[in-house]
Amino acid sequence: MKILIIDSSLEDREQLKFLLNLGGHFELFCVDSISKAFKLLGIEGSRDMLSQSYDLIIIDIFMEGGKGIPACETIKSISHLKDIPLIAVTETVSMEHMLMAFEVGVSDYISKPLENKIELIPRVNSALNLKKEMEIRKAREKDLRKMTALLEASNRKLQGANRMLKDMATIDSLTGVANRRFFELFIRMEWKVALRKKTCISVLLADIDYFKAYNDVYGHQRGDKCLKLFASALKNSLKRPSDVVARYGGEEFIVLLPDTHQDGAEVMARRMQSMVHDLKIRHSGSTVSSRLTFSMGISSLVPDAKTTIEFLIATADKALYQAKHEGRNRFAVYRPENGSSL
Ligand code: GH3
Ligand code: MG
Ligand code: MG
Repeated sequence: MKILIIDSSLEDREQLKFLLNLGGHFELFCVDSISKAFKLLGIEGSRDMLSQSYDLIIIDIFMEGGKGIPACETIKSISHLKDIPLIAVTETVSMEHMLMAFEVGVSDYISKPLENKIELIPRVNSALNLKKEMEIRKAREKDLRKMTALLEASNRKLQGANRMLKDMATIDSLTGVANRRFFELFIRMEWKVALRKKTCISVLLADIDYFKAYNDVYGHQRGDKCLKLFASALKNSLKRPSDVVARYGGEEFIVLLPDTHQDGAEVMARRMQSMVHDLKIRHSGSTVSSRLTFSMGISSLVPDAKTTIEFLIATADKALYQAKHEGRNRFAVYRPENGSSL
């Protein structure tokens, strides 16, 4: 470990070196003035002059007419030096001076003459051990801070990922069928397949009749329960693994039937009507039936360069509007010749 000796007396410097060598310390740096010491410590001149860090400073506090004590104070006031232990060597040991020295941060002292002052060695060793322990503690604190920062960063990432997962959730939490987001991803995939294979794709939009009145009569909780049953009935009507039903919004559901022509879609629509009819959900607020009913719009097409997914859904919506308009509790099919304006 590196020890800096600041003493104007050549004899004392040599004596210190001798004793420290005896104690196994060989990295010794000696200066005969405070200003040289300040240069070595990077206090005076450029900080770049600081060629190394020291583990201990031994200083004659009475050198240069008592300037050793303010020098110690300066060293202790500098952040990159304040942890270096200071041992004072002094000719005269007055209580007042020693108190002043301890006050400015000196941790130990040894009186001159230094000849045969063998006790210097254990004192130096204990100061160096203290310094080592402090460094270990500081390194641990640094590691701890680093780990805390890492933990906080990973916590933030986790929160972000959770938010993303929530956004990416594919299931509608109330009804348990796919949500709109999933449907939009799924139809894009199936659209590409249909384009490539030149197969027909069908979409059915289903909307419960007079559902507002249902809520008004039976309450919102029963309304929710009804939505769950309705969604399950639609889902249970599907036979192929590629068919999908999703909650499109409120009491509106969308069904995608890949590789299915219009007549196949109509078969499915009838099956859905029958499944929902069999639920036997009473709906006294409806003017079309005593049971819960719904209306559907169907649109089918073979995708090509001129058609879009939006067109397919908009045409199913148009057909749904038509079914509602014609009296509800039925389905209508979009026919291009009747509505080519879309
Ligand atoms: P129409 O036959 O023309 O479709 O009439 P409607 O009353 O079904 O249609 P409207 O769009 O006027 O009302 C839809 C109602 O669906 C309004 C809202 O109270 C209800 N609704 C939407 N989402 C939910 C839900 O998550 N739970 C419940 N209980 N009701 C819902
Ligand atoms: Mg409705
Ligand atoms: Mg609606």
